[in-house]
Amino acid sequence: AAPQEPPQIRRLEECVVNRIAAGEVIQRPVSAVKELVENSLDAHSTSINVVVKDGGLKLIQVSDDGHGIRFEDLPILCERHTTSKLSTYEDLQTIKSMGFRGEALASMTHVAHVTVTTITKGQLHGYRVSYKDGVMEHQPKACAAVKGTQIMVENLFYNMVARKKTLQSTVDDYSKIVDVISRFAIHHTSVSFSCRKHGAVRADVHSVATSSRLDVIRSVYGPSVSCNLMKLETSDSDPVGSIFSMDGFISSSNYMAKKTTMVLFINDRLVECTALKRALEIVYAATLPKASKPFIYMSIQLPPEHVDVNVHPTKREVSLLNQERIIEKIQSVAESKLRSSNTSRVFPEQT
Ligand code: ADP
Ligand code: MG
Repeated sequence: AAPQEPPQIRRLEECVVNRIAAGEVIQRPVSAVKELVENSLDAHSTSINVVVKDGGLKLIQVSDDGHGIRFEDLPILCERHTTSKLSTYEDLQTIKSMGFRGEALASMTHVAHVTVTTITKGQLHGYRVSYKDGVMEHQPKACAAVKGTQIMVENLFYNMVARKKTLQSTVDDYSKIVDVISRFAIHHTSVSFSCRKHGAVRADVHSVATSSRLDVIRSVYGPSVSCNLMKLETSDSDPVGSIFSMDGFISSSNYMAKKTTMVLFINDRLVECTALKRALEIVYAATLPKASKPFIYMSIQLPPEHVDVNVHPTKREVSLLNQERIIEKIQSVAESKLRSSNTSRVFPEQT
């Protein structure tokens, strides 16, 4: 056969590129919720309220009482790579905010209709403006507003038919959204959170800013969890300085569950670390006669240069410098804590 003519290479249209990229950042409704809540936290909010309709596909609304957005910034707010948090690459070493790449809001405008209402301190009124494909659809309109920012994301994936269909036919994202808000709530104890379905009277997550993490865990996960937790703390350092510190709660031998709940924050970022989770599951399986899976809340602080935050926005799995050493240390304190809670209860005294 005659060799085939090579196909011609063409540049993709910008709107196609943007939509594909946006679909990677915002993979499902819960990814949008996480980004919006992190923005509210970055804005130093003390109260964050989430309303969801149709698993997030019809509506996601996040309202906060943070510092708001300047009127002058509204025109570029939803452009890609516009941020108030990062200016040089080196800032990544020390950055404390959860966002920094200026991609989340932009991405949402390429796969949904986004409306922002915001007011800054000392202003008599706020502004409301809608965005599509990165740009304002009209000039900001003056409107009544109390404090902070409200972002409404409507008709998510309206222009990604296949994505929308698969999401609609599988379990809806609402339970994932409740789960992520619950996690934020028990870590950020000085912030009140709520999450409810649109039109519902009762919130499915409701936390009140308090000084006691156990109180928040009780109100979010219930007394069957909070009554069976033990405090766990440890730290480790080498001659050069601190490697890490950890504090948290782990379930005692009285706690019964079929599935592990592991709520992990590293340097105040909600992340996942499968190696650490497995290591702790092994401790429970080896120590407890009845194979109950644990509930774990853990907050780990590391020198910022020991964690790489510059990963893809959706890659929540982290690996750390000195990971083995950190995991071993946590495993051993968890084991001795669990043993001491268990021996007194389950085993008859050895003579
Ligand atoms: P990033 O968080 O990476 O900076 P985003 O696209 O999530 O990027 O947000 C862009 C910018 O919009 C932020 O840097 C911040 O200045 C502003 N912003 C977004 N959400 C809020 C909010 N809830 N309150 C105040 N400012 C916000
Ligand atoms: Mg952000």
